[in-house]
Amino acid sequence: MNKHILIVPGDGIGQEVTAVGKKVLDKIATKFGHTFTYDEALIGHVAIEATGDPLPAETLQKMRNSDAVLFGAVGHPKYDNDPSAKVRPEQGLLKMRKELGLYANLRPIKLFDELLSASSIKPEILKGADILFFRELTGDIYFGEKGRKNNGDTAFDVAEYSRYEVERIGRKAFEAARTRKKKLCSVDKANVLETSRLWREVIQKLALEYPDVEVEYQFVDATAMLLIKDPCRFDVVVTANLFGDILTDEASQIAGSMGMLASASIGDGTGVYEPIHGSAHDITGKGLANPLASILSAALLLDISFGLKAESDAVINAVDQVLKAGYRTRDIADKQTPADKILGTEAMGEAVLKFL
Ligand code: NAD
Repeated sequence: MNKHILIVPGDGIGQEVTAVGKKVLDKIATKFGHTFTYDEALIGHVAIEATGDPLPAETLQKMRNSDAVLFGAVGHPKYDNDPSAKVRPEQGLLKMRKELGLYANLRPIKLFDELLSASSIKPEILKGADILFFRELTGDIYFGEKGRKNNGDTAFDVAEYSRYEVERIGRKAFEAARTRKKKLCSVDKANVLETSRLWREVIQKLALEYPDVEVEYQFVDATAMLLIKDPCRFDVVVTANLFGDILTDEASQIAGSMGMLASASIGDGTGVYEPIHGSAHDITGKGLANPLASILSAALLLDISFGLKAESDAVINAVDQVLKAGYRTRDIADKQTPADKILGTEAMGEAVLKFL
């Protein structure tokens, strides 16, 4: 198979982890006889520094022209501490999602057995947890009208959803549930929000088309509690942009660390694959970043955008083997981990390549 992959490292540890993800894609190409070609493009703070624009037109064009994008992260402390900055790295991310029509963000949350002790949740509660989140990505309060009034003393962000937007992500979630345990949990705040009432109405109507899928409706506050209390009760979860953003970070603790979680953003065109973590400037340049989320993002890319399931499974299996062999990055190590098994970013990448 011949495919063209765009690497978009972005900021901070995004640079370090995508370099490892790319090596894994390269190894898969060699091992399975594929030809992957690559290009690179700027986004976020590095793009602002180079061009003044967090998503330069050239980057967007390269994204549209590629078969898939392996993405790092965007963000810089300079902007986090300056709410008044008009041009910001995250604008690049949001514009990319909108322009590429990436309306569905898939986040598989599965604990590798070897990491049971790395989580702050009790192992007996966690064992067997396997959740697939569908977070809506191009609507909600993130994209609605926003502004200030009353001389800047009052601020507003408008949340908006159309029937069409809810239906298309809902359908993807129902289809995925069919291939898993046939359980779908739709999360909203329909007791308070009008957008949530529309959300629930649309999912209830869709449910009639999927009688084989058991549907549960939860309020987001209850989900936040149940994810920690009983994560194994969930199979597929579908929710709006803001709720999904928060719940999936919470659920990252089920997987032991932010550094373990991959995501796929898909929609009308090129798919974008990225770790759920940010640019982590506290550890940038120190070789401490866990590259496994980027490696697992590459696995999702192979499966979803290229339909290469065996290749994707080979990557996941190699990660599993590395963990079984006792290797850890610092974020997933515990008191029992011997010092010689704690690896830096590059060494962890090399370990995965060796098992591949
Ligand atoms: P973060 O995910 O960057 O970091 C949170 C914590 O987790 C930090 O302590 C960090 O060291 C740790 N961590 C994250 N990824 C890790 C990895 N791979 N290995 C080891 N440890 C890891 O979130 P934050 O600190 O809230 O935000 C930092 C910047 O990233 C901000 O500018 C924010 O806007 C941005 N951000 C970007 C994205 C994205 O690009 N999709 C997502 C979230 C945050």
